[in-house]
Amino acid sequence: MSRTILVFGDQLNRNIGVLAGADPSRDAVLMIESAGKIASTRWHKQRLHFYVSSMRHFAKELEGEGFTVHYRKVSSFRDGLVEHRRSHPESEIVATEPNSWNARQLLRRVGVTTHRSDQFLTHHEDFSRWVDDRRGQGYKTFKMEDFYRQQRIRLGILVDGETPVGGRWNFDDENRQPPPRDGHDRWPEPQRFSLDAIDQEVIAELPDDTVGADPTGTWATTREDALERLAFFVDRVLPLFGPHEDAMLTDNWHLAHSLLSPYLNNGLLLPREVVDAAERAFRAGNVAIASVEGFVRQIIGWREYVWGLYWMWMPGYREENALDADLDLPPVFTDGDTRMNCVARTLRSIDDYSWAHHIQRLMILGNLALTAGINPQQFTNWMSRVFVDAAEWVMVPNVVGMALHADGGRMATKPYASGGAYIDKMSDYCKGCTYNRKLRTGDTACPFTTLYWDFLDRHHDRFVRNARVATQARASRKLDDLAEVRERAIEVRRKLIDGTL
Ligand code: FAD
Ligand code: SF4
Repeated sequence: MSRTILVFGDQLNRNIGVLAGADPSRDAVLMIESAGKIASTRWHKQRLHFYVSSMRHFAKELEGEGFTVHYRKVSSFRDGLVEHRRSHPESEIVATEPNSWNARQLLRRVGVTTHRSDQFLTHHEDFSRWVDDRRGQGYKTFKMEDFYRQQRIRLGILVDGETPVGGRWNFDDENRQPPPRDGHDRWPEPQRFSLDAIDQEVIAELPDDTVGADPTGTWATTREDALERLAFFVDRVLPLFGPHEDAMLTDNWHLAHSLLSPYLNNGLLLPREVVDAAERAFRAGNVAIASVEGFVRQIIGWREYVWGLYWMWMPGYREENALDADLDLPPVFTDGDTRMNCVARTLRSIDDYSWAHHIQRLMILGNLALTAGINPQQFTNWMSRVFVDAAEWVMVPNVVGMALHADGGRMATKPYASGGAYIDKMSDYCKGCTYNRKLRTGDTACPFTTLYWDFLDRHHDRFVRNARVATQARASRKLDDLAEVRERAIEVRRKLIDGTL
């Protein structure tokens, strides 16, 4: 029986899974573009364009190599499979393990054989084994830091034997600096990629009810261009990566972030080639250890860790809501209309680029959703629609676990809640804001500051038992204006719902 290799839109790489061993003279390829999925929600234009255009470019590349590619535009993924089976009964459909829970369930239901995936550096079964081993050794926790150190040794990255290069595993304390006062143009502007005929075709087909700015070439849609972005990052940006990783600036949307997540997530780039390129630049003396370590930690540490957690805790994980957060998604997330300058700036970045950086996601958007009590599933759905790099395996742990504490602290031991003081320290947003980050009551009080204290007060009994936030939880009950804070918090939430904050 001949073989048809099913390739998902986030597996666009010739060197992974079944495709790695495929032969154009023997194997065909099946790719399915689901019109139902495209029409299912109000996607950000750039997200949809990136996803679909990358798929069509990849199909064309495979054809160029001699493969017969069955690129089916159908109403649903399932229909595509059924149709293909009907028209090619002689060919067995096989696939590399998909990256999402639902896709794996679907393939199981329709009887498609899957092969182990090597798209990540750590197969999730190996991650679960590592967790079990630690438990077996008597450890109660399996922290990212412990996972990351063993990854460095196991993968031989930035180590001499079992010793970390530079003498330390972690240079995080050098990487938490507030934004510099000036020199905001020190971080090179990311290159733009030209939009070819395939890109234009996809743009012309975008549904009317999409959101955000039109694609203008910020996001590459081929492997060749993604490699160019990687080279640009390693040569020009990596030497600056780190010190201001957590900073947020009005006049610079990217700082020293790599902008590589979309390609890592859809397969145009693989994690090993990315960290190898970074390590080579370090070994050649072009990058300081603190910068390269900070970057490598994100890729072989955080990224692989959330991938492992997703598979260990699904399918229940995505539904968790430990803090009973029941506020419907407020209109500000969809219309961007607010006087909170930090929120407006972050939403502007998303509107312009379908992207915002980690601290904007965690400490502006996530922080607001956490302290206001927005429903985690509604918030996850919104983020999945508007971020160019969204994928369930990475969105769910980052939102449900890290940002919204909706897993009750399984992933992050403390809630990432803060008032305006942190945002003021790490950004220039507060200077241009209607609200006063120092006030927690009154009409001009910073909503973040009010909601922070109200959050600790509302969840006092839970957090007073958490050593990392117990002091703040206790302090909330000692506020002499607690009654006014509670009142102002009710008003803030009402204005959020009304869209008048
Ligand atoms: P850089 O700052 O240059 O970091 C390098 C790489 O490290 C990233 O490309 C990414 O692959 C990896 N990385 C860093 N932090 C994380 C993390 N916490 N989890 C997983 N990978 C990480 N990342 C996504 O790829 N898709 C998402 O849908 C996504 N949703 C998020 C939602 C929330 C609420 C939060 C707090 C974080 C989310 N992240 C997500 C993680 C992180 O914010 C992005 O990976 C990063 O901002 C992407 O930009 P970059 O490539 O310039 O990253
Ligand atoms: Fe954001 Fe508050 Fe600062 Fe305004 S004052 S920018 S709402 S943190």
